[in-house]
Amino acid sequence: MNRKFLMDLLDTSSPSGMEKEVQLLWLDYMKQFSHKTESDNVGNAYAVLNPEADFKIMIAAHGDEIGFMVKRIDSNGFIFLEKLGGISPKVAVGMKIKFLGKKEVVGVVGANAEHHGGVKEDLTMDDIYVDCGFKDKESAVKFLNIGDMAVYKRETEILQENRIAGKALDNKTGSFIIAEVMRNLAKEDLGIGVYAVNTSTEETNQGGAYFAGSKINPDMAVICDVTFATDYPGVDTNANGEFSLEGGPVLAKGAPINLKINTELEKSAEELDINLQYELTPRRTGTDADTIKYTGKGVPVALLSLPIRYMHSPVETASFYDIEDEINLLTHFILNLDPKINLNPIEG
Ligand SMILES: [Zn+2]
Repeated sequence: MNRKFLMDLLDTSSPSGMEKEVQLLWLDYMKQFSHKTESDNVGNAYAVLNPEADFKIMIAAHGDEIGFMVKRIDSNGFIFLEKLGGISPKVAVGMKIKFLGKKEVVGVVGANAEHHGGVKEDLTMDDIYVDCGFKDKESAVKFLNIGDMAVYKRETEILQENRIAGKALDNKTGSFIIAEVMRNLAKEDLGIGVYAVNTSTEETNQGGAYFAGSKINPDMAVICDVTFATDYPGVDTNANGEFSLEGGPVLAKGAPINLKINTELEKSAEELDINLQYELTPRRTGTDADTIKYTGKGVPVALLSLPIRYMHSPVETASFYDIEDEINLLTHFILNLDPKINLNPIEG
């Protein structure tokens, strides 16, 4: 596993709708492991093996991350924020924020001193602001303006060799997993077309996934995202189920999912002795899988997720063992896929 490429992805900002930098990085890396790479009008990046093959499998991960937008700059140069995706103001307090405006600039989210009453309990986005050191609005607008995007400024940490913590593991781990799968498959003689897509804008509107599905028109798709691990203090496992780091990749079950694909994934997991965990997505998955399914004539989809702790926080935490299992599982699944497979749930 090329851990360095994952670190590079994590170090590259890609707030939803502004994925250019990460897409260039991903495409440049994928050139070595594909017959064709390209991008499109909505910010998706594609890497393809065997573009001439009739049977097409799409493996998709979203390349965007949650972040913030500049909502208002006050006369003293303090920056107020809007959410870009499901980000929580409560964990933003005391963090560093990087603005990607005219000129990159870093600021801190102010936290009221305990001596003066501390941080409000019912904190909302309107209560938090960023201090970049500007004296007034005039100095601020030299660097940024209304609508500019921002992300947490974080260094990724390796915890005890095999765990990784930082921002945007949702879903740079997915971008990494599909890249590693392509790296494995590039060495093999494949009878099918494999379309890896690093999609744009999942965290905000899933528009990238819609156009990627429409463009490829795949016979099936496996979406790689992250899901909620529940193996840490304070989580209600009765309500949320039991999901643990190093418990293996998580397979979704529910109405959006094609069970025939799940069966094949389960066969692969058994052959490789990889443990699977299951999550319920009765109505929707809340991922690109929902959108890709609705493209073309209807795409049979499965959703494979990496369990992570502390979702949508700046310290999302995952295990390299699960990442490795997911890469091996998906590689084996694709290598053993019969292009004559009938995924129609009514037939066969
Ligand atoms: Zn995600």
